[in-house]
Amino acid sequence: MAAQVDPQKCTKCGGVVQPLCVEVCPDEAIRVQEDRIVVTEFLCEDCNECGFVCPDRAIKIPLDKVTF
Ligand code: SF4
Ligand code: SF4
Repeated sequence: MAAQVDPQKCTKCGGVVQPLCVEVCPDEAIRVQEDRIVVTEFLCEDCNECGFVCPDRAIKIPLDKVTF
């Protein structure tokens, strides 16, 4: 599983360089594509760094899928 971005909530924060979620991801699993934030599922390690920095709480890690 991977981080889920809610496009209804995402305001595409950040701006100058890149959105916060893109900036913090240690795996380069999240990026901007066609004006939306997309997560590459097989790269995402469900660390929730992106969810933590998102000012709009637009990112969720499905809890039942998190493995530690
Ligand atoms: S949960 Fe972690 S690995 Fe997955 S997209 Fe967010 S920051 Fe990247
Ligand atoms: S951090 Fe949140 S608001 Fe900012 S671009 Fe990512 S998903 Fe959108």
